[in-house]
Amino acid sequence: MDPEIDFIQQGLSHLATVVDPDLPGWSRVGYSEYDVAGRAWVATQMREAGLRTHVDAVGNVIGVLEGADSAVPAIVIGSHTDTVPGGGRFDGIIGVLGAIEVVRTLQRAGIRLHHQLRVVDFANEEGNAQGVKLVGSRAIAGALTPEHLSAADDTGFTLAELLSSAGHAPERASSCRWDTKEVAAYLELHIEQGPVLEQEGVGIGVVTRVCGISTFVLDVHGRRDHAGTTPMETRQDAMCCAADAVLAVQRIAAAGRDTVGTVGTVTTSSPLTNVISEQARVTGEFRSPEGTVLDALQDQLAQEMHRIDGRHRTSSSLRWGHTDLPAIMDGDLSGIIADAAAQIGHDAVRLYSGATHDSVEMARLAPAGMIFVPSAGGRSHCPEEWTDIAHIEEGVRVLTQSVLNVDAVPTRR
Ligand SMILES: [Zn+2]
Repeated sequence: MDPEIDFIQQGLSHLATVVDPDLPGWSRVGYSEYDVAGRAWVATQMREAGLRTHVDAVGNVIGVLEGADSAVPAIVIGSHTDTVPGGGRFDGIIGVLGAIEVVRTLQRAGIRLHHQLRVVDFANEEGNAQGVKLVGSRAIAGALTPEHLSAADDTGFTLAELLSSAGHAPERASSCRWDTKEVAAYLELHIEQGPVLEQEGVGIGVVTRVCGISTFVLDVHGRRDHAGTTPMETRQDAMCCAADAVLAVQRIAAAGRDTVGTVGTVTTSSPLTNVISEQARVTGEFRSPEGTVLDALQDQLAQEMHRIDGRHRTSSSLRWGHTDLPAIMDGDLSGIIADAAAQIGHDAVRLYSGATHDSVEMARLAPAGMIFVPSAGGRSHCPEEWTDIAHIEEGVRVLTQSVLNVDAVPTRR
């Protein structure tokens, strides 16, 4: 079952031309004209591969290949083709092209699956200025709420308006929902976006779980005073407290097992050098593959802020946003992927994903599993993102074999 790697190579090259010239890297930001054009091209590729396609109300491009047994649910494969601003050419894209190549490979081999096969290019996985990630898969899982749709960017432009601007129908978002009975399994091929596979010298990763994320907003209250006349030892400098908080996030995350922590912004209401900051705001996040660890990280930062406030004579309020709990990939399906890799002679290692994926939402509907292929230097979400075509080919082979193996397992309805 050899994939035609030329199809993937040419697809990667083509999509690398459907990008926003005003942004760095290979940018096809969700619901931009470039993203709309990219998804239209993907739909054409699906049809040429023999899939019946439709676009749902939030822009998911869905291709269907009927199976021999209409009484069993679908095997779903796919990923996304939108990118972060300044992103790369592989993130998500290899999972969509790889899924279409699975269909092409089956067609060439004259194999008809028992299960229906659905290929999805999920809309806007990477999120938007409205702060909603996984838009398409969330809608399919029935988890895209009115609150998500009314989320607005800094100018008041809502996610619903963004969807409408791209020609979609947010008022019908609930129609995107699939029933759990429709799906037998979800499989996603993706680049690792981290360094583990390259360091271990292994071509295939089987994802055990996807990290949960806790985001926070820290508001620091100090006292506005003259920068020239106020002695250092009596200042209530909100900016200094914020700076200490940034390093506390780094320290706490570095001390944990498999934990990471990042501060995204530090802002002050008085960006002046001759005034001591009265207010500062720090936003950031922690990630962990364990939900209980996320709770512990929250407690640690709260305790640390108590001490830091004491040091700077400030008072801080720490608010946690919604926590995305870790998503557990299905153990049986992970076993099927590992077996598929072994069948075609590839080593595989199990690892967790620090990045989030459409699989998190699809896991609400059905057993979900992910196949990772190496990212050069562990780099991703940057123009330098790279995965060797030989590794992508291995990944597509494992995806194809995994689909065949899932198809061979009788599905209970
Ligand atoms: Zn991705």
